[in-house]
Amino acid sequence: MKKIRALNDYPQTWALQVDQCVLEIAIKYTRRRGSVALKYQNGNWVFYCPQNLAPQKIASLLKGYQADFEHLIVSQQLKSAPSNQIPSIATEFSWLGEMRSKLEFGDSLERVLIGEAQQYFTEKVPYYATQMRLQPKQIKVKSYQACWGNCYHQRGLLQFNWKLLQAPSWVVDYVIVHELAHLVHPNHSTDFWSLVHRHYPQTPQAKRYLKENGQRMMHLAIAE
Ligand SMILES: [Zn+2]
Repeated sequence: MKKIRALNDYPQTWALQVDQCVLEIAIKYTRRRGSVALKYQNGNWVFYCPQNLAPQKIASLLKGYQADFEHLIVSQQLKSAPSNQIPSIATEFSWLGEMRSKLEFGDSLERVLIGEAQQYFTEKVPYYATQMRLQPKQIKVKSYQACWGNCYHQRGLLQFNWKLLQAPSWVVDYVIVHELAHLVHPNHSTDFWSLVHRHYPQTPQAKRYLKENGQRMMHLAIAE
């Protein structure tokens, strides 16, 4: 009789940090030996790996593939259409350091806030770009469900999530410096982080803020 292996101790999902997005990737264990694969299926990422591997071995495999997967996910994001979902925001929310009410916007909420965010980033990005001696070619504001920013370094394109402006400006500025630094280092190497820290000493505090409040900020914008 075939022995059925209990998979309880094995990770069911894997949180992969890609740029400033955290993607939850479902793990599926297969009978096939030796092969692992990351696949994009129905809008979700699924990691396939053999079920005869120990959990620690799986963890080290995932780490080893991190860079490849980041690359794959970023290229998939380039292909996928931007989200047109119109989020509704809880009545009161913080915006550029002030409390605002969604009642003042009606149906035009996302359009108005994207416009305001576009103006904010268009003014603020050049300030840090000059300090860092960088010249981004284009700055766009978009609606993301899980990212604060993105940098397509070859095109010199920086993209920011409008929902980020619910955070204090010193947190927003960290994301600006982070994305600008990707124009030099399209990775999260030691050199990348030392560039970010050099131009933005409050980096650890800002990262902590996003870690603690990011989910709420993302959800606030899409919650009913
Ligand atoms: Zn990054």
